[in-house]
Amino acid sequence: MKKIPSKDKVSKAIKDILSTHLKLESQEDLARHAVKLLKKEDKNYTLSPIRVKRIALDIPEIEVKAKTKKTVKLQDIKNCPVCESDIRPLTVKNLLNKNIAIGYRCTSCSYQSDLEAFMPMRYIFILKSH
Ligand SMILES: [Zn+2]
Repeated sequence: MKKIPSKDKVSKAIKDILSTHLKLESQEDLARHAVKLLKKEDKNYTLSPIRVKRIALDIPEIEVKAKTKKTVKLQDIKNCPVCESDIRPLTVKNLLNKNIAIGYRCTSCSYQSDLEAFMPMRYIFILKSH
């Protein structure tokens, strides 16, 4: 039976992994390492690369960069489809240190949308130096 690890557990796993690897070149890589670590606690844990990326975006010690030069044009969505609150673009820096939008995030609920469906994106995950 599959089990979903809590956000806190995933977040801790991501930090542990990056404190040894310092940098990982894709969300699939990060997810693979995180699942391996979490399975030591419970072998039924499962984790999708998109969820790993979303959680990594919320960790202040981790920098997420998009491996693209292109700026993706976002659809013009103004309100959250779940709660109708304001919606903000979710941005990360690309390799040229320019901010690019990678999806949307609701300002009040946990709704988040990725651009993955429109344009597969590669990410790098880096542990910020202290
Ligand atoms: Zn919302």
